[in-house]
Amino acid sequence: MTAPTRSPIPALKATPAPDMDLSVPIASVLLDRYRSLDTHALLVALREGIYFNRIALVSSFGAESAVLLHLISRVDVDFPVVFIDTGKLFGETRTYRDRLVDNLGLRNLQIIKPDPKALLRHDPKGLLFSKSPDTCCYWRKVEPLERALQGYDAWISGRKRFHGAARSDLKRFEAVDGRVKINPLADWSRADLDRYFEKYALPRHPLEKEGYLSIGCMPCTDRVADDGDPRSGRWAHARKTECGIHFPLAEARRRAVI
Ligand code: SF4
Repeated sequence: MTAPTRSPIPALKATPAPDMDLSVPIASVLLDRYRSLDTHALLVALREGIYFNRIALVSSFGAESAVLLHLISRVDVDFPVVFIDTGKLFGETRTYRDRLVDNLGLRNLQIIKPDPKALLRHDPKGLLFSKSPDTCCYWRKVEPLERALQGYDAWISGRKRFHGAARSDLKRFEAVDGRVKINPLADWSRADLDRYFEKYALPRHPLEKEGYLSIGCMPCTDRVADDGDPRSGRWAHARKTECGIHFPLAEARRRAVI
């Protein structure tokens, strides 16, 4: 394993304009600097060398989440882990979350929830997902996450290129809304994940054996056929393929009816 470079957020070659979004050049420098680091070394560099307590993992505790959570736990059990409880999750996901947190010894789980006043106003019957899933995602995921990420300069997501669609050309580092967003598993394959689960005897999400291969909110998650695309079970009732939290804020707002 290549040793991580202990260094602060990289200095930029040119003096930035006062109103410049620094996350853009920083993501570009980090992309170049950490190109050759393996996933564990990258996470060590992020936590110990660059961001320390200004970086969080955002995890859905879904079908593939145990891998990144295990990797994070081997770096620092106090690594902040943000979990968005939308109020529409499967009970099995909450049970799995608690089991993983316990098994891995994670000590900094931050459970965030939608603003009750916003739900009362915009989704009083809890059926917004059926009329406008982008608006539902905005109030149940995007807005709570934006609140939770105040104070963080960077966050980690578990997306991978093999998920396809908009994720096909995913980079390890992105700049989104003034923060650096890191995708440490971008180049992992399905087989890599399976090998990792096996190597560390990680528990699977209980719904996986029932045919749910990508697991989000209950109303927006279906089973997938044996040979189907794992993400084809998400928002099968709507023309939506990506979770609102993975759009820039302006785009998430544009798609939502708010
Ligand atoms: S995934 Fe479905 S239920 Fe969950 S926040 Fe988005 S639209 Fe609403």
